[in-house]
Amino acid sequence: MLKNDMLEKWDRENFFHPSTHLAEFARGNVPHRVITGGQGCHIEDRDGNRMLDAFAGLYCVNVGYGRQDIAEAIAAQAKELAYYHAYVGHGTEASITLSKMVLDRAPEHMSKVYFGLSGSDANETNIKLVWYYNNVLGRPEKKKIISRWRGYHGSGLMTGSLTGLELFHKKFDLPFGQVIHTEAPYYYRRPDTAMTEADFTAHCAAELEALIEQEGADTIAAFIGEPILGTGGIVPPPAGYWEAIQAVLDKNDILLIADEVVTGFGRLGTMFGSTHYGLKPDLMTIAKGLTSAYAPLSGSIVSDKMWKVLEQGTDENGPIGHGWTYSAHPIGAAAGVANLKLIEELDLVGNAGRVGAYLNKVMAEAVGAHAHVGEVRGDGMLCAVELVEDRDNRTFFEASKKVGPSVAAALLEQGVIARAMPQGDILGYAPPFCLTEAEADEIADKTATAIKTVLG
Ligand code: PMP
Repeated sequence: MLKNDMLEKWDRENFFHPSTHLAEFARGNVPHRVITGGQGCHIEDRDGNRMLDAFAGLYCVNVGYGRQDIAEAIAAQAKELAYYHAYVGHGTEASITLSKMVLDRAPEHMSKVYFGLSGSDANETNIKLVWYYNNVLGRPEKKKIISRWRGYHGSGLMTGSLTGLELFHKKFDLPFGQVIHTEAPYYYRRPDTAMTEADFTAHCAAELEALIEQEGADTIAAFIGEPILGTGGIVPPPAGYWEAIQAVLDKNDILLIADEVVTGFGRLGTMFGSTHYGLKPDLMTIAKGLTSAYAPLSGSIVSDKMWKVLEQGTDENGPIGHGWTYSAHPIGAAAGVANLKLIEELDLVGNAGRVGAYLNKVMAEAVGAHAHVGEVRGDGMLCAVELVEDRDNRTFFEASKKVGPSVAAALLEQGVIARAMPQGDILGYAPPFCLTEAEADEIADKTATAIKTVLG
């Protein structure tokens, strides 16, 4: 094995890390970390530190680390046939089987699944399908996409535009193109504290209607949203939100894209966030939980209604001009099949619901009363702790104080990984579904200690 100092030198000299302060990393002020192993909810680094990963990588290692069934399925596929493409009707046993498994689990009205590699590219696919759909229907002006502030949909050109977080726009000339943003369904930060959840839902729906009116419904193709806001702060929707939004969209003939990259395959204790909150999407984006990140694979699930129009388009224009070399990659597909089987064999969706509810409860008990905790919120195996300077006025700390990252660092000192979410001092938790109640207790207790260490 290479000596640590050599690896660190190579790392700092050569490796362009995503979502990293490039200059500080080069200067040595951002730690260099080498992860070497994982088992269940824990990972290990090359210095021998064992950590409880309460964010499941990037909320993706849903079945936990070290699952031999999935590793063996990947190895078997690689030995038999590492690659063949999926163009012009080609497939492999794994990719065809996975398409059937996905559709068997998806809502009844969904028809087909297109496989990509990442959540970002699956959302790019979805936007292209929306545009294609409206062109086939002879509505070339109906192209704008509405997204929400604090939504996260990827970091490509179009998907970075859909993402409603400043960090992903600044200095990239984004958002661009046909993307517009509407209010985040963030009840804790409602414009008027007197509003009930129902009032705030009505307010979000009214804001959406006003935006549609201003832009013209005949220019707007689709609305994209995560069933529960994820990277924007892990924020469950206020009561009745999706019903109210769906009514506005239906009235204006606007398609709904449910971005299920985080929620798909069990994170809320149900197979999909759409069924959990009552959305009826025209397109669904899936990624992370599809393979539990054992191999890169994503998907766009297309409804019957859209599929019929896409077929018509190919009758008029020839084959659909869309596809990646690695669409439906057999190794990803083999990982997906093994992963979905394992989730069901071990009832991991049920466990995500049960232990997720327990985590939310013990977290609220452990930190909810602290003077700098504004809110503890979550759903299923998702939980967030929002830190504020002033609880009464819900004011954030100055960003330059880096309170969220400091608390996350104090937690890591105790061997627990949470994520300091990118906008506001919000700690995010999204552990693997195999979390135990004892591990949930450990996460909550150590969070309380970390908050005390940093904020007193
Ligand atoms: N959509 C959502 C809801 C996500 O959380 C993410 C990633 N965190 C993406 C899309 C983008 O996925 P990827 O990073 O795989 O491109």
